[in-house]
Amino acid sequence: MREVGTDWATCPGCGLQLPSVNWASDGRLQNSPECWQLYTELVGATMSQAGRAAAVQQLSIDAYGAQHAGPGVAPITTVFSLLGLFLAIERGVPGYEVRDAHQRLAALDLRWPELTRPARTGEVTVFDVALADNPDEHVRLAHEWARSVWQDWEYCHPAIVELTERHLPDLARR
Ligand SMILES: [Zn+2]
Repeated sequence: MREVGTDWATCPGCGLQLPSVNWASDGRLQNSPECWQLYTELVGATMSQAGRAAAVQQLSIDAYGAQHAGPGVAPITTVFSLLGLFLAIERGVPGYEVRDAHQRLAALDLRWPELTRPARTGEVTVFDVALADNPDEHVRLAHEWARSVWQDWEYCHPAIVELTERHLPDLARR
C-alpha cells in the first residue's frame, strides 16, 4: 500500500519497491539499500534460529547474490551464488557443504567468468520470504525463491555445471 508523501526506492536487482531509507547501499551488489536492509534482517533472524530455518541460510545468501548480480559486482560473487544454487537445488547439497565448496573454490584463486544477469530475476523476492510467519513456511518460501532465481538464470546452467564438474567433481556427480 502506498502512502502519500512516502519516497519509494526500487531495487535495481529484484525490482522490489520499499519505502526509502536514505542511506547508501554497500556497493557489493546491484541492490537498493532498502532491499539490502530487509535481506540482512532476514538472514540475521535465521542465524538465531536452530534447525530447519538456519539450514536455508546459505540458500538465501546465494539466491540474493544471484538475484542482485550486475555491473560493478565481482564475477566471483555471481558465480559462487549460482554454484551454490546449483549444488543445493540440483544436487541436494546441504548449506554447510555449499559453504565449504565456496571456500575450496576461493582457495583456487581463479579468474571467474563475468555472467550477465538475465532480464528477469525478480518473480520471487526477499520480501516474499520475509512474510513467512513460522520456520516451516520460511523454509518453503526460501526454496521457492532460490528455485525461481536459478530458473531465471537458465542460459548459464551449462556453464555452472561445467565449472562444478571441473572444480568440484565429487559434488557435481552426486
Ligand atoms: Zn532487491
